[in-house]
Formats: sequence, structure tokens, C-alpha cells
Amino acid sequence: MSELLELLKVKESAVEEIKQEEQRNREMILESVPCPNCESAVAVELVQSIGSSAMPVCDTCYERFHVHRGSEGVFTRARGVTPRIDGTEHVDVACPYCETTVSVLIGRNHKDSAMPQCISCGHVFHAHRARDASVFARQRGISPLV
Ligand SMILES: [Zn+2]
Ligand SMILES: [Zn+2]
Repeated sequence: MSELLELLKVKESAVEEIKQEEQRNREMILESVPCPNCESAVAVELVQSIGSSAMPVCDTCYERFHVHRGSEGVFTRARGVTPRIDGTEHVDVACPYCETTVSVLIGRNHKDSAMPQCISCGHVFHAHRARDASVFARQRGISPLV
């Protein structure tokens, strides 16, 4: 009888251990991983169990990427690269100096840029393609010769 009780106790503690193990595996751990795009350290909460993954956004370059926990540790992967769109197009952008609408020839992809010259005030400025495909203009640091 006492042997049986002993056996039950062992079983109980084993069950308890498994429960604790499961609990541990569900716990979120804050990991510091390098962004696959710009290599800055990004803090990401990841469940402790192997196979867990997360999709944090880098607060330096704002790229979203994959983080996975494998048997060998945590690794990151850039998201599937969006295919580049060929060609350029003319986009109307407001000159950042005088707000005259300037037609800018610019690529269709995110981060494409151009340096058009304003037809009205003669300033050269930066035009950039934003992630949402819109184009925004920015002043150049250097002021042109008048
Ligand atoms: Zn980044
Ligand atoms: Zn202008």
C-alpha cells in the first residue's frame, strides 16, 4: 500500500513538472534581435517554446520582419521582398520651397527618389517615394546659389 502511494506521489510530481514546463514554454521572453534590414537591435517578445515566431517592426527603419525560435536559438528573416515595379512615372509634387506644383519623374518603388528642380523658384529638392506609393518632397540641406 505504501509503495502504491509512493508511486502515485512520483506520478503527481511528474505531472506537476510537466505543467510547470508547459507554463514555462508559454512564457514570453524579451529577446534582442538584429533587424535583417538595418542591423539595429530590436526588442521582441517571443514565446519560449521552439517554433514560436513573431513579426516585430524595427523602430529604426520601420521594416517588419520575421523572428523565429529554432532549436539553435533565435533567428531573423527579412520578409519576402516586394518585387520591384519597373519604370518611372511623372508625379506632381509641391515644391517644398514655394509650393509650386512640379512634375517629377520618379521610380515606382518604395525609397526611389529624384532631385527635381522647381520651375518657379529654381530650387533643387528631394522627392521620395513613400511606402504607401505616394511621393513626398523635402528641402535639400544646401541652399542653392541665387
Ligand atoms: Zn531596421
Ligand atoms: Zn519652388
